[in-house]
Amino acid sequence: MDRNQIKEHLTFASELGVAGVSRDPAWRRRTASRRGDAEAAPAPAAPASFSRNSTEALAAVREDIGDCTRCKLHTLGRTQIVFGVGNPDADLMFVGEAPGGDEDVQGIPFVGRAGQLLTDIIEKGLQIPRKDVYIANVIKCRPPGNRNPEPDEIAQCEPFLFRQIDIVKPKVIVSLGKFAAQTLLRTDAPISRIRGRVFDYRGAKLVPTFHPAFLLRNPASKREVWEDMKLVRRLLSED
Ligand code: URA
Repeated sequence: MDRNQIKEHLTFASELGVAGVSRDPAWRRRTASRRGDAEAAPAPAAPASFSRNSTEALAAVREDIGDCTRCKLHTLGRTQIVFGVGNPDADLMFVGEAPGGDEDVQGIPFVGRAGQLLTDIIEKGLQIPRKDVYIANVIKCRPPGNRNPEPDEIAQCEPFLFRQIDIVKPKVIVSLGKFAAQTLLRTDAPISRIRGRVFDYRGAKLVPTFHPAFLLRNPASKREVWEDMKLVRRLLSED
C-alpha cells in the first residue's frame, strides 16, 4: 500500500468517525487473496479466476429465474431482473433489500448513490476490492417507487437468494438494513437492536448493519457501521 492509499484509508476512517488506529492483530492478519493489495496479490482478471462450479451453478439459478413472472413485480414497471454480482466463491457476501432505479436500469445491485457508499465501505473501509465480494438482494426486481417488498414477492423470490448463498458459501454475510435482516432472520426486532451482532445463518456468520441509503440520511451512524466492519474483518480472519 503506498502513502496515498494509506492516506485515503485513514481519511475514510476519520469520515466514519474513527478517532484512533487499532493495533488489534485481527486487522493485520489478511490473506493475500482478501486484501486487494496489488503488490502482494495482483488482481486477477475477475471471471477467469472464478471456480467453474460456482460460476456454472449461479448461471443455472439465473436461468431458472428466466424472465420471471412469478410475482406481480413483473407487471409493475421493472426493467430487468437484478440477479447478483461479484466473486461466486466470495468469503464475504452483502445482501440488500431490492434494486432501486439505477440498479433496475443497469441490472447490477448497488450502483446508485447508496451503492457508491457501499463500494467505499468495501474498498476503502474493509480494503477488499468490490469484485472480490458477492452482492445480491432479497428481491430481484425493483418495487414501484422503491416501496418495501411485499410478503408474496419475498416468498417467490427469496428461494433464489438462498440458492445463491448456498453456492457462494460465504464465511460472512452482511445484511444491509432493517428489511434484509428481518427477512433473513425471520424476526421483527428493530435493526438498532440486532446490528453488530453475529448470527449463524446457512453455514455463514451473519452480521446485520445499517443500509447505506440510511447512512446517506444519517451520516452519524457511519460510526456504528465502522464497528460492524471491524467485526466482519475479525470474522473473516478466523479459521
Ligand atoms: N438498495 C438495495 O437494497 N439494493 C440495491 O441493489 C440498491 C439499493
